[in-house]
Amino acid sequence: MRARVAAWREAGESIAVVPTMGALHAGHLALVEAAMRDCDRTIVTIFVNPTQFGENEDLDAYPRTEDGDLAKLAELGADLAFIPALSEMYPHGFSTQVTVSGLTEGLCGHGRPAHFSGVATVVSKLFIQAQADRAYFGEKDYQQCLVVRRMARDLDIPTEVVAVPTVREADGLALSSRNAYLDAVQRAAAPALYRVLGEVAKRVAGGAAVAEVVDWGVAELEAAGFDKVDYIDVCDAATLEPLAEARAEAVTDRPARAFAAALLGTTRLIDNVAVG
Ligand code: AMP
Repeated sequence: MRARVAAWREAGESIAVVPTMGALHAGHLALVEAAMRDCDRTIVTIFVNPTQFGENEDLDAYPRTEDGDLAKLAELGADLAFIPALSEMYPHGFSTQVTVSGLTEGLCGHGRPAHFSGVATVVSKLFIQAQADRAYFGEKDYQQCLVVRRMARDLDIPTEVVAVPTVREADGLALSSRNAYLDAVQRAAAPALYRVLGEVAKRVAGGAAVAEVVDWGVAELEAAGFDKVDYIDVCDAATLEPLAEARAEAVTDRPARAFAAALLGTTRLIDNVAVG
């Protein structure tokens, strides 16, 4: 990859990187298409990163569909797929962690304490390896976008992080590799996550107290068939500071977003929408 990138740079070409864990779907491909529109060369990385999974999470079950992924990338015309081995990313004796404070404490950082340090570590490695001008991430993982942007700025990595809007099924469910775990009953319940978040955002923008709206949303998700709601939160869109106690006037004078994570069986789904 370094040799290819050096040759592209020599020719004055701009370079994009799209980090993924594979099992590529239309959400991933939207990132690749955005990268290909903006830059001369697009690298897609595929690496199921063990350090961002918790002990009881789905690392072993995570879908791996490399041949299909490569066919999709070839069809789009991406320039390079980088699929490093575990031993290449984490050689024996690997001992360095990248930890971003503040942004990682709330939302998904709460229930998945080591997750964002795993993400920041692997993405900083991928950024340093790829030496790209721009990196494309999905807004579906909004907190992750902010964390990797902060990490790149703080470590002086000159890769600009670009956020791409969430790609959804016709019924609103955000595309995710984890949707493959859902059975038919769970799949039918899943779109409630986006529907309820949209309603939470609308009610908060309309002046309702955040705490009351959050209580309503949790009850609504449970009624729709979700087995557990990890969180619903309304946060400042730039700092992720929770606005749970604030009323709408405080929310609307700076951009805010509504976030949720909830389980159908053991499958954990996340989503987020803008307020106002
Ligand atoms: P993953 O393979 O789940 O690690 O995701 C790789 C990248 O694709 C991340 O930047 C995700 O935010 C992004 N992504 C995943 N699902 C979607 C989606 N439905 N719409 C847009 N981007 C997505």
